[in-house]
Amino acid sequence: MIRNFEMYVDGAWRSSASGEVIESINPYTREVWATVPAGTAADVDAAVSAAVRASADPEWSRNPKVRAKLLTRLADALADEADTIAEIESRDNGKVINEELAMNRAVPGWYRYAAAVAETAAGQVPYGNDPAVLSLTEREPYGVVGIQTPWNTPGVLLAQMASMALAAGNTIVVKPSELAPCSLLEFARVVHEVGFPAGVVNVVTGLGPIVGQALCEHPGVDKLTLTGGPEAGRIVAAQAARRLVPAVMELGGKSANLVFPDADVEQAAAAVAAGFTSAGGQSCVAGTRVLVHRSIHDEVVKRVVERLAGLRLGDPSQPDTDMGPLCTSDQVQRVQSFVDRGLADGATLRKGGRTQAEEGTFFFPPVVFTDVTPEMSVFSEEIFGPVLSVVPFDTEEEAIRLNNATPYGLAAGVWTRDLNRAHRVSRALKAGTVWVNHYRRGDAAFPFGGYGHSGYGRVNGIDGYREMSRTKSVQILLSGAED
Ligand code: NAD
Repeated sequence: MIRNFEMYVDGAWRSSASGEVIESINPYTREVWATVPAGTAADVDAAVSAAVRASADPEWSRNPKVRAKLLTRLADALADEADTIAEIESRDNGKVINEELAMNRAVPGWYRYAAAVAETAAGQVPYGNDPAVLSLTEREPYGVVGIQTPWNTPGVLLAQMASMALAAGNTIVVKPSELAPCSLLEFARVVHEVGFPAGVVNVVTGLGPIVGQALCEHPGVDKLTLTGGPEAGRIVAAQAARRLVPAVMELGGKSANLVFPDADVEQAAAAVAAGFTSAGGQSCVAGTRVLVHRSIHDEVVKRVVERLAGLRLGDPSQPDTDMGPLCTSDQVQRVQSFVDRGLADGATLRKGGRTQAEEGTFFFPPVVFTDVTPEMSVFSEEIFGPVLSVVPFDTEEEAIRLNNATPYGLAAGVWTRDLNRAHRVSRALKAGTVWVNHYRRGDAAFPFGGYGHSGYGRVNGIDGYREMSRTKSVQILLSGAED
């Protein structure tokens, strides 16, 4: 039976002002499994107006204790609901249930951490030149934050923005991706049950160029965030610039694992294989390039290919499935076009690609290319699918140069047992996050964000709190002390 979701505005459930809906396709069955309202500019206006009203209430915006209490309650409730939300998300975007369970069971950690930050955040008393001036700073919320999320990991990616936005006393209007919007409406149900004041959290579903654009243009929105691709990033950043509101851009990546000759080759190969096949490669931090010292190149390729042979592609709802389908048929075509370009450019296909067995489905068995050069699009462009490009290097400098030779800079993995090299290389890499001897782990405490085309601004940790709040500086002239 098709499930019909409503959207969440001003503490109540509603359909779109137009009455129209968007169908959500289960990528495994390729059938409609749910509908969500096709929001309009009028729906965005209702949500932003509610968020503006809610942000004017000092009981929310000026009372961190109240916020900490609600965020803790939300974390507890999300822990209880994690498996339900994970199932919805898996049906919506095709990711395997084990990954979805792991991700959604981690989500409460973001709200718990944010509650602790709200509870303990403090201003400063800086000393200036004149002792007669008492100076103090406070952290203030922006007001209303408009948050847009992609389809690949909605719960975690919303948590990265929303937890600190709420901790800092903002109210939020969320626009989920039209391709997998349902889990964020389930999140809204939990928010509602926990008892957040009406208007603090709103979720408006719909298309990017309609709902997303209306959100970006609305004069009631004080800050914009986008987690998505560079194309939408440019559009949203331009709209933010036109309105002179600040923006956070969490965009795509072309991240690499750098494997040095002193690395634990088995561990590195396991992480490389998992790094580009988890989520079917549809992850911003997918490790889709491996830069490997020439002396261990063949060994690493062999071990990665061996690991891929054991991967089970299939029904994402089953716990023993390793890889589900890609999210949409457009996504399948996009990945195929990159594979075709890689072959035409002269890369060597070592493993994978679609066969007749995948015909008519959204499955894409992982692809490994060797003999890749920096000029090829498979080396430099984000494919957002399970395609790995392997490139050998001879020196540390060459490894660093190759890593930095794309417009992106989201994450990197460094594999070495040499502590000096680990620090030296980490410093030299164009990447917002560097993992040493592991790959693709996130945490509410660790700041995350990109360089270059991977975006700007930071989520998570205290950096995330500072991103969602601003400084008020107050100076008081103490008169009468010298009398
Ligand atoms: P997308 O850029 O197509 O969409 C992201 C969001 O922007 C969606 O909600 C979409 O509706 C909205 N949008 C699209 N066009 C818009 C417009 N003209 N105006 C306003 N809003 C618009 O991205 P996607 O395909 O959903 O997700 C994949 C991309 O997201 C990849 O590039 C991936 O690397 C990136 N991503 C980045 C991170 C990160 O933290 N850096 C995390 C996950 C995904």
